[in-house]
Amino acid sequence: MMDTLKRFPVKYIRDFIKKDYKLRDVCYICNSVDNLELHHLFSLSQLWEEWLRKNDIKKIESVTEIKELRQTFAKDNEDSLSNKYLVTLCSKHHKKLHTIYGQNYSNYLVPKIKNWLEIQKEKMSG
Ligand SMILES: [Zn+2]
Ligand SMILES: [Zn+2]
Repeated sequence: MMDTLKRFPVKYIRDFIKKDYKLRDVCYICNSVDNLELHHLFSLSQLWEEWLRKNDIKKIESVTEIKELRQTFAKDNEDSLSNKYLVTLCSKHHKKLHTIYGQNYSNYLVPKIKNWLEIQKEKMSG
């Protein structure tokens, strides 16, 4: 079949979501302008897995199919995926966040991490 999936479905989701993400000019914590990276507070793969389960989707076989599904997925998760949960961090602070909370933390930690970001920011300004 011509449009068989060549990558994991979540990769197609990531491409689609990321096109709307914008990097800010400075690190949220320290205002550095160097080595800026994006961190999205919600794990996309976790949202995706949960959405598949909720909609009882067990198998995705074609690119056409994933392209249709991702539209609905993005709509259903509009809030969690939005830019308000997108944080621009310098590589040092981005690394620090993942050192503390792990590379793939669970989404229930999001409020905790938001709080951590605020505390780090305050420390820098104080
Ligand atoms: Zn920083
Ligand atoms: Zn990150």
